[in-house]
Amino acid sequence: MAANFAVLQLSGCAGCEVSLLNAHEWIGRRRLDYMPLVLSSEALPEVKTLLVSGAVRTEEDLYRLRKAASRAQEVVAVGTCAISGGVANLGDRDDVRALFFSEMERRHVPRILPKLHPVDAVVSPTLYLPGCPPTPELFMAALFDREGFEASKTVCIECGRTKTRDRPRRLQGFQQAEVDPDICLINQGYLCVGSSTRGGCRAPCTRAGHPCVGCRGPADGFIARSSDEWFTAIQKVFARMTDIPADDIARAVRSPQLALFVFQFADYAATPRDVRRVL
Ligand code: SF4
Ligand code: SF4
Repeated sequence: MAANFAVLQLSGCAGCEVSLLNAHEWIGRRRLDYMPLVLSSEALPEVKTLLVSGAVRTEEDLYRLRKAASRAQEVVAVGTCAISGGVANLGDRDDVRALFFSEMERRHVPRILPKLHPVDAVVSPTLYLPGCPPTPELFMAALFDREGFEASKTVCIECGRTKTRDRPRRLQGFQQAEVDPDICLINQGYLCVGSSTRGGCRAPCTRAGHPCVGCRGPADGFIARSSDEWFTAIQKVFARMTDIPADDIARAVRSPQLALFVFQFADYAATPRDVRRVL
């Protein structure tokens, strides 16, 4: 049996773990020694690879991450929350914090930190697996074949929809109209950010008719720049392909639905963007 590995889940939703379980081909090829969602284990053993999902939201997260990383030869940051905050970052909002602290029955849960941290603010990952969640293919590549994994530059390249000369004049709400199965979603008025989002997911959302919300983070061309430049690039695509007012796009791009992915990557991942090893 090849080298063992473990999964440490910090504050997140367990979607990454479900995706790892969907990548079942690793079973029998690498030994899973610790993963509280499916394996009971009192203490984390020494492992070759520690996959960390979720963000550092509580004092308990901080303690567990430090302890687990000290027993691992390498740490892999898995998913949007571990890399850049994700849903756990909503706890940085004043209204959410006030709600949390007003719930007296919650006083026995771990203390929430004043500010959320990505995993790489505490330990140094050797690899990042972006996505919400990362796909099973990505987990397999991380466990067995990092060099062999090829991500297209952007989601657009993997999408397969055709760009046309149709210029919509207003944004279409999600699932409020029939979606043409072959035409680019931007040409249909949907806010799709696949044109500047890192490929490698094989575009499951856009193929199914749902706009890409950017969960894979910025394409390489933007990874070493600020999130504002990513915003600007998205806005330029819409100016080039549509007649939708620029203000409508700017507002929509910064809405909570997209901000969970688009905004947080550049602002929270702590390792310099040009030295991250990202699958
Ligand atoms: S913008 Fe979206 S729908 Fe259009 S080609 Fe790119 S990923 Fe596909
Ligand atoms: S299409 Fe976009 S939102 Fe969907 S998995 Fe890929 S990067 Fe994430």
